[in-house]
Amino acid sequence: MPHEIDLHTHTVHSDGTTTPEDNALMAKRLGLSGLALTDHDTVAGWAQMRDACTHHGLVFVPGIELSTERDGRSVHLLGYWVDPDDPALVAECDRLRNERVRRAQEICAKLAGLGMPIDVGRVQQIAGDAPIGRPHIASAMIEAGYVTEIGEAFDEYLADGGPAYVPKYAVDPLRGLRLLRDAGGAVVLAHPGVSEDGGGPVTPGLLDELAAAGLAGVETDHPAHEPDVVERWRALADTHALVTTGASDFHGERKDLRLGERTTSATTLEALRAAVNNEMHSKVSVSPTAR
Ligand code: AMP
Ligand code: ZN
Ligand code: FE
Ligand code: FE
Repeated sequence: MPHEIDLHTHTVHSDGTTTPEDNALMAKRLGLSGLALTDHDTVAGWAQMRDACTHHGLVFVPGIELSTERDGRSVHLLGYWVDPDDPALVAECDRLRNERVRRAQEICAKLAGLGMPIDVGRVQQIAGDAPIGRPHIASAMIEAGYVTEIGEAFDEYLADGGPAYVPKYAVDPLRGLRLLRDAGGAVVLAHPGVSEDGGGPVTPGLLDELAAAGLAGVETDHPAHEPDVVERWRALADTHALVTTGASDFHGERKDLRLGERTTSATTLEALRAAVNNEMHSKVSVSPTAR
């Protein structure tokens, strides 16, 4: 597997269970040439991952997976090489994080009403410095003996529309795309064929909108995409001349996925990178005072 990169992995800095060092070591052992870190709504693990990749001679691709929503459908956007200090992006990530704390409190109140009190402080402890998500609440429920596994916690209580469900604050996909692009990122539509948080696949109409607004690529090769879904999204990406990527969406033990299960070639990575550079170039030539 020469010069292959896993462009979508999570760590304990969001809802994964491994550290950046763990991911880098796994990538090295698999013979990958590079690795992206794309934690949800945070860049907290970047420095650690950069050091670990340097140590193992891997190319580090800094990224973030922004959770957006349209019509009750979750749409995940991967932003690569964004400026981690971009004020608008930092503000949005802070807001997403704070709203998640408030939401966790509401979910715990609902669980208490169902006879399953959970200490929010304990959930926060499990999440560590990661933005709180339902998987962390599910872990606390297992710990308290209310359920035996994560899937059960979701199926019975936490899933969208479930008895303990509380929707989360989210931005519209177009606004999310602009935030990431304005922060200098190349934006890739993550796993469009499956909506992890419910709501079904991304519609071709939304892809048209995102493509018109400067989307750079589509994550067509994802473990949750069946072969026909991969083909369908490759064809859709082609109609907009978008780059297509492959990645594992590794989450450690929280999901049954292996790091490196899907990958992206170094050539495709260069095409993505070029998308950012062309963008910078056109911004400068079209509007020299814009930045
Ligand atoms: P949240 O960000 O709090 O809305 O939680 C979303 C996370 O929960 C996603 O990363 C999903 O992987 C996970 N998730 C959603 N549905 C399920 C499910 N049925 N079983 C296990 N994990 C799930
Ligand atoms: Zn996740
Ligand atoms: Fe995702
Ligand atoms: Fe992900």
